Amino acid sequence: MDHFEYRAGRLHAEDVPLERIAAEVGTPVYVYSRATLTRHARVFRDALAGRIAPHGRAPLICYAVKANGNQAVLRILAAEGYGADVVSAGEMKRALAAGIPAEKIVFSGVAKTDGEIRAALEAGILQFNVESDAELDAIDRVAGAMGQIAKVSLRINPDIDAGTHAKITTGKADNKFGIAWDRAPDVYAHASRLAHIEATGIDLHIGSQLSKLEPFEAAFTRTVGLVRSLRAAGHPIRHLDLGGGLGIPYDDETPPAPEAYADMVARVTGDLDLQLIFEPGRVIVGNAGLMMSRVVYVKDTATRRFLILDAGMNDLMRPALYDAYHEVVAVSEPAAGAPRTPVEIVGPVCESTDVFARDRLMPPLDAGDLVAFRSAGAYGATMSNTYNARELVPEVLVDGDRYAVIRPRQSIEDLIAMDRVPDWL
Ligand SMILES: *Cc1c(COP(=O)(O)O)cnc(C)c1O
Repeated sequence: MDHFEYRAGRLHAEDVPLERIAAEVGTPVYVYSRATLTRHARVFRDALAGRIAPHGRAPLICYAVKANGNQAVLRILAAEGYGADVVSAGEMKRALAAGIPAEKIVFSGVAKTDGEIRAALEAGILQFNVESDAELDAIDRVAGAMGQIAKVSLRINPDIDAGTHAKITTGKADNKFGIAWDRAPDVYAHASRLAHIEATGIDLHIGSQLSKLEPFEAAFTRTVGLVRSLRAAGHPIRHLDLGGGLGIPYDDETPPAPEAYADMVARVTGDLDLQLIFEPGRVIVGNAGLMMSRVVYVKDTATRRFLILDAGMNDLMRPALYDAYHEVVAVSEPAAGAPRTPVEIVGPVCESTDVFARDRLMPPLDAGDLVAFRSAGAYGATMSNTYNARELVPEVLVDGDRYAVIRPRQSIEDLIAMDRVPDWL
């Protein structure tokens, strides 16, 4: 459920007509609904709290900042009690700046540098999710130099096919992520010998946009077995971080509801006495945002009709990056029974991959009309860039009948001012 709907033929975000935002902020623009974001955060949190807390310690939900790291978004989630899963020191600083306490931050990612490790130890984060032996040694060395003990979970790769798009699967043996399943006992044994490491957890994350529970259940079941065998070997496993990955409906998929996911987790983790950590990203913000764009031209060729938009692949990369589907709707509600004809929805960027949709059935649209890409709250604005010297796309947050620009459109002057011409030119 979300708060984007037609009222009297005009698409609204909560009580604000999108046309108003287009007129006042311009297009392309991301528009988020605070009520939708808060609702999703609560549904996920309450689904877990009602099912899992009775079996052990209250779960910690560390929102995956890479899905949408805007300060306003993070501030809303911080107020809902969320922690953060970060994959760079930059994301950690974003989370801290938005008021997420360090003791609710977990640091994932395959290539943490010494500088990032130091920054995280200084901040006092909850744990590093360690992805290799070499990284474990690096954290031990940096922590030793600082006279600290680093708390870590080892990210184990359960070698499970997440059944999602090949470009967003992470838990197979041939992915770059995590420590190979067979090596887990050895790496824990190694960790227990390092003077500046306290390895108290297991972490996994098998992929994104999962639309079925089975891959999660298979991976979690395997990992629970590992918790028991590591404990039997004397390792004090106190945290189990189950990652993120729960999908959302973009098209006609029907991903499991958070309640079903939580039921499964409760069943699989049973009476294990440990703290569960979750790292949801997309399921929290995905459907809380849309990207609005204006049709610049309608171009007919011998075989096709193109809707050419003022938004490009630099503003919303997901279709070009991994063939992602976004529903595209007219901001002005089409008349009932309006004919739908197949069109190519494309952007202005000089790349053949700057295509949002092919053969998409759309109602009649003309130059100047507004369209909205639904479900663009996750991995939308965070991936945007300035290719073709296009101003970084702005973001807007709607709250009831008011809205605020939470990232202004960058000007071309700002962009040019980032460059430096050497004085020998
Ligand atoms: C991207 C990522 C997530 C979030 O994934 P979603 O599919 O958005 O829920 C969680 N954990 C890690 C380690 C990630 O890389």
